[in-house]
Amino acid sequence: TQLGYMRGGFQHLYDSLAEHVQQAGGKVLLGTRVEKVEQQNGRWRIESSQGSWTFDRVVSTFPTRLTCRMIPALPESYRAQYDWGQAYGAHCLILSVSKKLTDSYWINICDRGYPFTGLFEHTNFRLPAEYGGRHLLYLGSYRAMNDPLFTMSKEEVMAEYFPALKRIIPAFDETLVTESWAFHAPFAQPIVTTEYKDHIPPLNTPLEGLWVANMFQVYPHDRGQNYSLALAEKLVKQLLS
Ligand SMILES: Cc1cc2nc3c(=O)[nH]c(=O)nc-3n(C[C@H](O)[C@H](O)[C@H](O)COP(=O)(O)OP(=O)(O)OC[C@H]3O[C@@H](n4cnc5c(N)ncnc54)[C@H](O)[C@@H]3O)c2cc1C
Repeated sequence: TQLGYMRGGFQHLYDSLAEHVQQAGGKVLLGTRVEKVEQQNGRWRIESSQGSWTFDRVVSTFPTRLTCRMIPALPESYRAQYDWGQAYGAHCLILSVSKKLTDSYWINICDRGYPFTGLFEHTNFRLPAEYGGRHLLYLGSYRAMNDPLFTMSKEEVMAEYFPALKRIIPAFDETLVTESWAFHAPFAQPIVTTEYKDHIPPLNTPLEGLWVANMFQVYPHDRGQNYSLALAEKLVKQLLS
């Protein structure tokens, strides 16, 4: 197995994917919240923050738990089997700093005394020139989804992280930070236990025309977008057969 890096980041892949969908006559709606998915006269009606539509088939790519929440028609037996297990949320603080701070790309931090579990100096892997001359440092953390970290402002997170960062890199000083970004996402890391595989839903569901395909079906490997693509290929084969 080899680790690959898409020069310029994954955004290229998403932009190209959206372009292909549009060229094939599809629409991509960003910033649109799906609120309800229900059966209506043998078809599927989707209610969203931008309006409602009706389709012959629906593929839900939400985490299985959200799919169950959004589709009241899914039977109890399906929920008992697949609306199951726990996941962590992910938090990423990205700093643009005015100079190189470590000699490493990737430092795992498995120490309860630190508020983040990974420190990645991305521009030790790719050159700062690829990012407008920025030196990019990324501090990552996986936590329970109700952890206060997910409701903290970026400034509060930086106030908590910076003293710990300084313990690892004594040369770090917050005046070196020229830009910063904070991102977080729920359901970012399924917690895989020994019973996990018995609770992975198949791609089809007991409801005609409803399919599910998401990261929680990636097994036994850890999540990765290469596996998402493989899952999509498998789904398309089944949809067209
Ligand atoms: C910190 C981190 C680093 C990673 N690094 C890599 C990497 O380097 N390489 C790699 O291959 N993989 C990486 N991964 C894994 C990769 O991100 C996942 O495997 C992939 O995103 C899973 O895709 P998905 O579509 O199943 O889920 P998601 O990407 O989580 O997509 C689910 C989407 O559903 C949306 N959604 C939820 N509810 C609603 C609603 N009601 N209405 C509308 N939309 C909704 C969410 O906003 C989200 O966009 C990383 C993951 C994390 C957390």
